[in-house]
Amino acid sequence: MDEKFEIKNYMEKMVKKNLESQLEKRNNICKCDRCKLDMMAYALNHLPPKYVVTDKGSIFTRLQELEVQMNADITREVFKAIELVSKNKRHK
Ligand SMILES: [Zn+2]
Repeated sequence: MDEKFEIKNYMEKMVKKNLESQLEKRNNICKCDRCKLDMMAYALNHLPPKYVVTDKGSIFTRLQELEVQMNADITREVFKAIELVSKNKRHK
């Protein structure tokens, strides 16, 4: 295996970005790392994975198109994740 290349789930990146921007607009909810990871896990379990091989410049145009296509789904699942996790915190 060529170690220059790596396989990544691009959905993780999109969910993280979406989560950060939704959390910026929310008040009175816990935004610690534990809760953010729980929110990401929830959203990722409800969205299809999008595996890509990194280190390929040409891939980005396609990923941007994918991001536009998936944006409504991601926003919906992330919103649900925030609701659920903020009401069921796993820590004190
Ligand atoms: Zn928390």
